[in-house]
Amino acid sequence: MSETAARDLTIQGITGSPGIAIGKAYLLEQGRIDILDKRFVQPEQICAETNRFKEAVKKAREQLHQVIEEVPDEYRDHIYILDTHMMLLKDRMIYDGTIEQIEQENVNAEWALKVTVDKVKAMFKKMPDPYFRERASDIGHVSKLIMENLLGTGHSKIADIDKRIIIVAHDLSPAETTQIQLEKVKAFVTDLGGQTSHTGIIARSLEIPAVLGLGNVSQQIRTGDLIIVDGTAGVVIVDPGEATLTRYHERKDLFEDFQAKVTRISHLPAETTDGYRLTVAANIELVEEVVSVIDHGGDGIGLYRTEFLYLNRPTLPSEQDLFDNYRDLAELMGTRQVTIRTLDIGGDKFASGIHLAEEMNPALGLRAIRFCLQSPEIFKTQLRAILRAANLANIRIMFPMISQVEEVIQAKRLLNEAAESLHKEGVPFKADIEVGAMIEVPSAVFMADILANEVDFFSIGTNDLIQYSLAIDRVNKHVASLYQPLHPAVLRMIHRAVGAAKEAGIKVSLCGEMAGDTVNIPVLLGFELDAISMNPISIPAVKHIVRALSFNESKIFLQEALKQATASDVLNLIQEAYGKSFDAAIFFRSR
Ligand code: PEP
Ligand code: MG
Repeated sequence: MSETAARDLTIQGITGSPGIAIGKAYLLEQGRIDILDKRFVQPEQICAETNRFKEAVKKAREQLHQVIEEVPDEYRDHIYILDTHMMLLKDRMIYDGTIEQIEQENVNAEWALKVTVDKVKAMFKKMPDPYFRERASDIGHVSKLIMENLLGTGHSKIADIDKRIIIVAHDLSPAETTQIQLEKVKAFVTDLGGQTSHTGIIARSLEIPAVLGLGNVSQQIRTGDLIIVDGTAGVVIVDPGEATLTRYHERKDLFEDFQAKVTRISHLPAETTDGYRLTVAANIELVEEVVSVIDHGGDGIGLYRTEFLYLNRPTLPSEQDLFDNYRDLAELMGTRQVTIRTLDIGGDKFASGIHLAEEMNPALGLRAIRFCLQSPEIFKTQLRAILRAANLANIRIMFPMISQVEEVIQAKRLLNEAAESLHKEGVPFKADIEVGAMIEVPSAVFMADILANEVDFFSIGTNDLIQYSLAIDRVNKHVASLYQPLHPAVLRMIHRAVGAAKEAGIKVSLCGEMAGDTVNIPVLLGFELDAISMNPISIPAVKHIVRALSFNESKIFLQEALKQATASDVLNLIQEAYGKSFDAAIFFRSR
């Protein structure tokens, strides 16, 4: 290789937000504070040291307050993240923990803060669920602010960027993200983070491509390097060669034209060439995402992951907090249907207001409906809030991780008790709310005929169904390649669950993320589902594909797919049958 040859270095990360960007890198110097001295402080100096720490926290609060005041309009929806950081600045584990360290160990404030934060971060990082692991980075962002004040070091000059660039950073705090002027950023690339990190959430709602979790990318890229960010495939290419560059320019144009074309018509129904109408709804975690759902033509909310309201707060939300949130969501969605999933917490998901024991196999532990049935008061508070909100809007309710029929029966009993208590108090509520069960455990698939007698609808959660049926931990990157949505075993399970629903005459939808991957649509359509739901950005492309397919043909095609031996056989079959007839853009996600 000659000295001037392009590096053409491809680095695989995690999709933060889809889309392609090509441009110059801007490395955010964040003055990582990894090396700190431990100093012992004389007993008579302890008070001065704790005051120094308190001053640094006070200053951090003022700085953050200023950032919040100056947040540009397009980021207003994300202020809650900064509010969370404001709360973390007062968090007892960090604030009191650091003061205790100073007083008990006689050490300097910087060291005490570092030890305390390391401990708290380690606690979060041990949690298998990526959402909770990534909360460790919130603690990192907040402690960095305090640390910079203690050390008197400066902040990143993010607001000074004046060219259109791709931001490369070790990590990007929400405070930093909101200081960037959106029109100057083509993409985000970070060492840390994952799909559920705040950078990912913000990037997706602003539709800026992002690749996260790239390891040490910030050490491999220099400011001014030409880079390609393929947010759809989760790949970054540093210093691309001519051929790569040409290929990606074409791909970018194709993707953008395609996305623009399908978004323009995304309000149209997803109706096949032979008249079968599929509801295409969204999965959301936050009410703030509703704007994106509507902009992308979502026919409703197929899955509202309500656990996010229980996070980032020291106490549980009250019934009124929950009611206000559900009502706001449903009002924004108008007449469109909203499916509220009850709390899917415990096991691999954690909230500070709920105390759970550590478990050997959290995915198989006290999670979701199991936790709720063991904590009826927490559960009933949520059920009352849902019943009240359902009186004002088109809301239905579903229970997660059902593995046996008794769980549905018990959950419905508690729902009745919640309704009775509201009735006694004279509080208006919807008595005949539709009740559903998520089908995401193999036992639920095999007992689906019995379960169907107890509920009004099924929602097949393939994210977990794949995990539990193929025995692949969905958050373990070492077995990620074995996590195959098109595995014939998964398809046969979906087929069986849908069959049981049809037999019983109840509605059935699918809310796993596989529904957002366009390449899966020809197979999914053949199941005769009533609805599918996915992340909002994927909706326009999925609706477009549905409109180009024939329902009757896809039913026949599904029979072929079900006979295949492996996931790659199924994928080949799809590509042979449909690859040529669609825009190349439809198979972007899976390449
Ligand atoms: C699923 O398991 O498919 C699902 C939609 O729920 P979650 O991803 O929240 O577990
Ligand atoms: Mg699930």
